[in-house]
Amino acid sequence: MSRQPYLTSRLQGYDTTIFSTMSALAAEHDAVNLGQGYPDDDGPDEVKDAVIAAIRDGRNQYAPGHGVGPLRAAVVEHQRRFYGIELDPDTEVTATAGATEALCAAILALCEVGDEVITFEPYYDSYVANIAMAGAVRVPVTLRAPDWSYDPEALEAAVGPRTRLIVLNSPHNPTGKVFTRSELEHLASVAVAHDLVVVTDEVYEHLVFDGEHIPIATLPGMRDRTVTISSAGKTFSFTGWKIGWMCAAPELSAAVRAAKQWLSFSNNTPGQFGIATALALGDDYYAGFRSDYRRRRDRLVAGLREVGLEVHEPAGTYFATADVRPLGYDDGMDFCQRLPAEVGVAAIPNVAFYDDVDAGRPYVRFAFCKSDATIDEAVARLAKLAPGPGGRP
Ligand code: PMP
Ligand code: GLN
Repeated sequence: MSRQPYLTSRLQGYDTTIFSTMSALAAEHDAVNLGQGYPDDDGPDEVKDAVIAAIRDGRNQYAPGHGVGPLRAAVVEHQRRFYGIELDPDTEVTATAGATEALCAAILALCEVGDEVITFEPYYDSYVANIAMAGAVRVPVTLRAPDWSYDPEALEAAVGPRTRLIVLNSPHNPTGKVFTRSELEHLASVAVAHDLVVVTDEVYEHLVFDGEHIPIATLPGMRDRTVTISSAGKTFSFTGWKIGWMCAAPELSAAVRAAKQWLSFSNNTPGQFGIATALALGDDYYAGFRSDYRRRRDRLVAGLREVGLEVHEPAGTYFATADVRPLGYDDGMDFCQRLPAEVGVAAIPNVAFYDDVDAGRPYVRFAFCKSDATIDEAVARLAKLAPGPGGRP
């Protein structure tokens, strides 16, 4: 990546996200965009109506910094209903500008300059940019195919005297991995043994197709050392509203709120009312959402396999990671850069989310938060792809 003359050294290399880069390439070639993860379809009308009603009711001025009461109450009820977690809405729940702001505020609030933050790689890109902003140091632990598990010894070896946080993401973007109970128990034991805080990004909590979503905050010893982050973007298909939330014990919440107030101060008021309505939707909404996305997953995975890609079926999220080597390619970045011009499809090269570029090189992420027609069109176009330099075996 080229050097940006005005950009601080801390942020060199973080100038344009891979999502923006690939969406721009998709637009340039009029490609079917299975890169950046945003849904084709909006969420429920009743949630839109709730935002419109809030605007008409005069809910248009600054919200309290930690969020409007109905949203915080709805988050409390959601955590109780799905996970049996009890939270105090005043001291333990904070509204944020999407999960992105919550993640940034947590990392800025909790890390001294020079502290180390363990992240699993492939990592979601904003974690490493936030770690750089904080002047902290990232220490990746690699998830490996086919099940994207990690080596427990590698996690233990990653902990040092300066380790402050472990950033967890389950269900995991980009691999679709859902961390198992035994993995989470191991991770929790490491956090407890070394007195670490876990920042957990659970934005895909309602997109689990195989296994179950276990919030790490529910494991022994974790209630008071976990910052749990989620967002309405994924669960309710309103990514453009940027309403998220953060749950943590009072002292942790106070620290993260201190940083958050200097980022956005407070967040979109009518949107928060709308998401309070969304969180209270019936079980049929959540079950329907999951089964709809399971169907889309199966459609995309079958299509990608038909064109010859090796796909590690995602247990969660709305992304499928494929290995490009069976098509004769060996470099996912090169593959994704050619794809829009050559066949009119855009995808994301997973190598953008790795420090260990050899580990990430062959993988490419396709999003299935798209209509059947879009998925089918992408697969039909991919079928026209010429074999890579290594040929098709
Ligand atoms: N974390 C992960 C793993 C994501 O995929 C995304 C993308 N939506 C975010 C955080 C950011 O969420 P939001 O749009 O709510 O800021
Ligand atoms: N979370 C979305 C994804 O993984 C993208 C969000 C963004 O563009 N920053 O595709």
